[in-house]
Amino acid sequence: MHIADILARDTPSLSFEFFPPKSDAGWESLYRGITEFAALEPSFVSVTYGAGGSTRDNTHALVVRLRRETPLEPVPHLTCFGHTKDEIRAILELYAANGVGTVLALRGDPPAGARILALGDFRHAADLVRFIRQEGERLGVNGGRGFGIGVAGFPEGHPETPNTLEQLEHLKAKVDAGADYIVTQLFFDNHAFHDWRARCDLAGIKAPIVAGIMPITSGSGLKRMADLAAGTRFPAPLLKAIARCKGNAEAIEHAGIHWATEQCRDLLDKDVAGIHFYTLNKSDATKRIYRTLGVRAGGARP
Ligand code: FAD
Repeated sequence: MHIADILARDTPSLSFEFFPPKSDAGWESLYRGITEFAALEPSFVSVTYGAGGSTRDNTHALVVRLRRETPLEPVPHLTCFGHTKDEIRAILELYAANGVGTVLALRGDPPAGARILALGDFRHAADLVRFIRQEGERLGVNGGRGFGIGVAGFPEGHPETPNTLEQLEHLKAKVDAGADYIVTQLFFDNHAFHDWRARCDLAGIKAPIVAGIMPITSGSGLKRMADLAAGTRFPAPLLKAIARCKGNAEAIEHAGIHWATEQCRDLLDKDVAGIHFYTLNKSDATKRIYRTLGVRAGGARP
């Protein structure tokens, strides 16, 4: 399905991110959890793509399996890193043949130790967006409209571009190249998100912006997030809440999910286009947020 149709049907959209498991046990566990995710009737689910290469085929396999065997609408991530045009074309052909209607176009990050020369035929995500648009139209996806295309946005900035006005120009270039929506990096400070959303609007970026939310569920998870999302601010009240729970894993989980729930409540109140949950393949935190906010399966409209 084209993302424009999904967003027109479900505003705000509620969606989940999965990663392709590396082990057989991981696949089994994800597949057991899929029933629980599916029961929440998300607008779509996205599947990450390893820019390093080792799990790439797993992404394709998971996307095709979700498409064939579940009612979920999978949106594969695709990265520039290390890919030639022919390779990207072959992946898009596979997705088109399996009824995938929307793709998230990213540059990816170089695998540890790799040099920028390994980038491949596409330098920036905007180049990939342009190519996906052309190919989607050629393949007649979504009745000839081409693939729906998403891109990444960074409310608290992207570390490689310190000039924040330049960052907005680069984001606008992705939308002008044909992106239909933006999904943000995870954030914990809603003020940063709202301010950035207003700046996007002023910069002429009119594509719907879907907010990325990742509940903290453990002390080690918090450290991993700080590594993964460089530059993300952890507000002092959040850190104080986590510090109060020191030594009590259940209390940390409770405090982290409470914070994410409050973020979601505020985002829904302020008419966000959608919320994308970084689930780490576990449904429990998302289910608790749904329950607390009174969100029913299939939608967040009151
Ligand atoms: P780009 O838009 O190309 O931007 C990268 C940097 O280049 C930015 O600093 C930008 O300002 C700058 N830039 C852009 N255009 C130009 C230009 N013309 N001239 C000079 N500078 C320019 N990574 C993965 O490997 N796999 C995933 O599945 C994945 N999923 C993600 C999902 C989301 C929602 C997000 C937010 C990130 C995800 N990432 C993933 C990480 C992402 O690939 C990295 O953060 C990467 O560093 C930036 O990707 P991008 O698509 O924004 O790149």
